[in-house]
Order: sequence, then structure tokens, then C-alpha cells
Amino acid sequence: MTAAINIETAKARRESVARRFIRRPAGAVSLSILVLVVLVGLLAPWLSPYDPNFVNLKITKAPPGADHWLGGDSSGRDVLSRLIWGTQTTLYGALLAVATGVITGVPAGVAAGYFGRATDRICTWISDALQAIPGMIILLIVAAGTGADFTIIMITVGVFMAPGYFRIARSAALAVRNEPYIDAARVAGLTDLRIMGRHVVTAVYAPIIIQTALTAGIAMGLQAGLQFLGIGSASIPSWGAMMNDGFRNMLTEPLLLLWPAAALGITIAVLAVMGSTLADLVVVRKPAARSTRKSRQRTRREFAPATGMMVHAPEKAAARIENLRVSYAGHGGDVEVVHGISLDMAPGEVLGIVGESGSGKSQTVFSLLGLLPAGGHATADGIWIDGREVTRMGSAERAGLLGRTIGYIPQEPMSNLDPCYTIGHQLVEPLRSVLKLPRAEARRTAVAMLERVGIVDPERVMNSYPHQISGGMAQRVLIAGAVAGRPSLLVADEPTTALDVTVQAEVLELLRELQQEYNMALMIVTHNFGVVADVCDRVVVMQHGNIVEVGEVEQIFGRPAQAYTGELIRASLDGSDSRSQLDAQWNKSNSMQEVAP
Ligand code: ADP
Ligand code: MG
Repeated sequence: MTAAINIETAKARRESVARRFIRRPAGAVSLSILVLVVLVGLLAPWLSPYDPNFVNLKITKAPPGADHWLGGDSSGRDVLSRLIWGTQTTLYGALLAVATGVITGVPAGVAAGYFGRATDRICTWISDALQAIPGMIILLIVAAGTGADFTIIMITVGVFMAPGYFRIARSAALAVRNEPYIDAARVAGLTDLRIMGRHVVTAVYAPIIIQTALTAGIAMGLQAGLQFLGIGSASIPSWGAMMNDGFRNMLTEPLLLLWPAAALGITIAVLAVMGSTLADLVVVRKPAARSTRKSRQRTRREFAPATGMMVHAPEKAAARIENLRVSYAGHGGDVEVVHGISLDMAPGEVLGIVGESGSGKSQTVFSLLGLLPAGGHATADGIWIDGREVTRMGSAERAGLLGRTIGYIPQEPMSNLDPCYTIGHQLVEPLRSVLKLPRAEARRTAVAMLERVGIVDPERVMNSYPHQISGGMAQRVLIAGAVAGRPSLLVADEPTTALDVTVQAEVLELLRELQQEYNMALMIVTHNFGVVADVCDRVVVMQHGNIVEVGEVEQIFGRPAQAYTGELIRASLDGSDSRSQLDAQWNKSNSMQEVAP
């Protein structure tokens, strides 16, 4: 059954990016315009009606007409021809810059991530140094020193773009490096070069494409800017030089400025739209997750024998709950909603808590976190987190565990982000207050975490407001925030319920990767056995506020002891659990929003 689920999600994912890009209006329109621009650039010698540098004084500042569709410029050259050739110049310049960035940044990044050690230190140092140097000044010096040679200037621009590519490639290679299948390839006798070519490059190409869309636009803008300032050969027709001409005659001949400015503006905008549309669709999947089952089984055997409940000494458990009861004050006295449950988790274990809506899963989680909604009251013989008894802690001490020892991921990513603040603010502030990081370091950490959770352009997302990102990205942001403090226990309450199906699989995969990478215990609350099959080692099944069954995933799937468990499994696997019903239930019960401190 596990296999079936994995295959389906994999298929849904493979289908996705290119098609989903085209299907989005922003994707289709921006791609069409870009293709058009590229065609104009390539076919310039055939499309251009005149030599772009031929001076015909009769058409000096001539308005658009039958022979010269866009008229003539202030030196008597045909504007349309210059615009067409300028397209080629712009594309050629952007290509030079991007190619330089890719050719230098990507191999260095892959090598740094893959070999680590000295290679990594040296490459990272160079990359950091490049980022610290004020590129514009170097660019002007290079321009002055080379007589403003167009090719050399654009290659220099590319060198300054290399660190962006370097960082993407390095983090992808890092993520892939320690995967079992890389070891397997090495054992099989493949050379490092072959291994990197095959495995690492397939992991980085998507974010590289996105980065390229974004940096190509920047290169075009820079290039036009330099030519606008008059830096560059006068014999090369370019949009920047045309804008300079237009700018000087703006009051009398505004069209001379309009054409090149529009061409440049549209091209850059199209690239930006393409980049951000792609970034929304492509999730940087580090191809790590698939292979984790083996090593997880190892963890499990070390720590937890097959039968399940309360097998770890409290001080060794990642989490342990003894005889928890939760009640709410009602009109006719207290209503108990959780009836004395006990469970525990080994360090590094992935535990699923499964049950129909209203079975008490969230109440259990809230009690563990010490964040019951108003009116709720919990008693327990003991609750341990990371080996420490928390019910006897003062409230400040206990709250201090949040974000450091325990990370929490809520069900509704959107409603857990404040619409009034940028994502960056919402990540940086907790890092400063919880981990006491200085502002700059908190920001760096936040960007790195966003990158780690698969957000391609973390800088843009840092400056975005919640409504500007998709639900899947919002959940990634919350995951980044939850694991930034390197908790030993990560609690996720229905982390994928609010997301659409393809994104669900990706978010689960991410959780599984992070759990492995940081060796966290992971508690996943869900009503869906598909999620359990995908991720968990052990399962706790809840119904009406009681635990009705505990066991290893394989055992529960193969031989559920309770008919209720069997029903849950069937409902999850044939998709018949009614979303709307579950959602309605969820909305009735309390979300974390009301109780967050
Ligand atoms: P789920 O398993 O879906 O997460 P919950 O733990 O949220 O279920 O809820 C368990 C039970 O507690 C439900 O019957 C719910 O109606 C009840 N409950 C939840 N929150 C409150 C509240 N604030 N006041 C009273 N009853 C509540
Ligand atoms: Mg719930």
C-alpha cells in the first residue's frame, strides 16, 4: 500500500511543472512574449528593414511613416531597425552574463557541496568576497580599462552573478551528498564526476532555471543602464543607447524614448513574471526523501521494540504523556474530551496520531505544547519533553521550550501568518527573541532556512506578505520557522490537510527530510492513513478521546486489531473521507491562532 501511494504522488509531481506553467495564464503569456522577443533578436538581419547605423539625414527626428514605420532618430537612423538590432544586443548581453554566472557558479557550487572541506571553504570564501565587492564600481573600472568592451563588460556582470548560482548549486549538492544512493553509486564504482553529473545536476536544474530568469532581467537592466550613460561602443545598436537619444529629445520626440523603454520594460517584466511563476510551481525537491526508509528502520530498532506503548524511560523519551485528561467547562459541568491517554516517542522517531475528526488529536497536541485553548483544563500524571518533566515547570520555563526544544507546525498555514507583516519579519522576530540572535544573523538564518525548505528565491519571499505567496509556500515558511531552532521534537498538526494534493506530497517529503537531517522526533497528527504510510514509523490510533490501538506502521496496515482502524485505512486509501465534513469539524474545534502566545 505504501508503494501505491508513493507511485501516485510521484506521478502527480512529474506531470507538473512544465504543464502547470503553460496552463497558468501568467506562464503562457510571458513565455509567448519571450519567444517572440528571442525570435526578433535571432532574425534581426532579416527583419530589420535598414542598416541600424545607416545615417539618412532626411529622416532625422522623422515621425512614423510608410517607409520608416517608427520614424528616424536624432542622427537620422531608422528607429525600427535599431530597435530590432537592439533586441539582439540585449539578448546577447544577457546570455553572456547568465552563461558566465552558470559556468562559473554551478560547477563550483556542486563541487563545494559535494566535496565539502577545503573545496567548500575556498569556494564559499570566494563567493562571499564577490558578494561583498561593490560590483558597480568594478564594472565601471572594467569599462574604463577595456574601452567599454561590450563582451568583457557583460562577462564581468556574469562573474558578479555567479554567487547566486553558487549558493543554489551548493545547497542542492549538500542535500544530495549523504544520500544512500550516492554511496551506492560510489560502491558501484562510478567516478565522482559521473555521480555529480547524474544525481546532483538533476536536483539543481529547476532552481537554476528560475535564477536565470531573474538574473537575465537584472543583466538586461544593467546593460541598458550602462549604455544609457554612454558607456559602450556607439556603433552597437542597443536599447540603452536609444533611450539615451530619446531622453535627450524627450520633450520634442517622446516616441524616441517610448519604444526602447517599452521594449526593455516588457522584456524584463516578462522574465520576472516567468521566474516567479516558475518559483511558485517548482519546489526544489532535494531527491533525498525516497531513500529514507532503511535508515529510519535502524533508528526504530535501536530505540523502540515492536509493541509500542511506554517503552522508554521518561528521561530518555523525546516525548512522553502519562494519563492525560482534558476537559472543558460546559453549561452542565465539565465535559471530558480526552480520557486518560498515555503515549511516548523515542528520539528521532516518527509517530503518527491518527483518528477521525474530533477524536482528541489536537487536544493531545495542545496539552503537550502547554497551549490549551481558553476554558480547557488538562491533568496528567506526567508529561516529559526531551527527557524533562514539564508539568512541574513554571509557565515561563515551559513556554521557553517552544521554538527551541519543540517546534510546532499548524494545520492552516495562511491563518497562522499575520497578513500585516512580511514573511521576513515573521521569521526574523522569533529568531531574535527565542534564539537571541542579532538581527543580521537572524535574517541570514531565516534566508538559509527558506532556502533549505525549498523556496527558490528566499530574498523575494522574505519581502513578501502572506497573501503574495501560495498555501504550499506558506506551509514551507512555517516549517522553516519551526525547525530554525533545531528542536528535538517537531509536532505537526494536520500539516497537509489544507493543501492541494501535489503540494501535500512535497510537504510530507520535506518534513521527512528535515526529520532525518536534524534527527528530530516527529509527531504527525492526521486523519489520513496515506500520510501515515508515507512517513511514520509507529502509529497511535485515537477515537472519542481514547487511544484504541498502537503499533508499527506495517503491523497496523497489515493486521489492524480494531475494526475502526480498518475503516480509517480504507477511507484514507480510496479517498472517500469527506473533506468538507472534516473541514467543517475542524472549523468547529479550536485552532492554534486563538491560543498562540
Ligand atoms: P481532532 O482529533 O479533530 O483534532 P480535537 O482534539 O480538536 O479533535 O477535539 C476533540 C474534542 O474536543 C471534540 O469533540 C471537540 O468538539 C472538543 N473540543 C475542542 N475544542 C473545544 C473547546 N474549546 N470547547 C469545548 N470542546 C472542545
Ligand atoms: Mg485537530
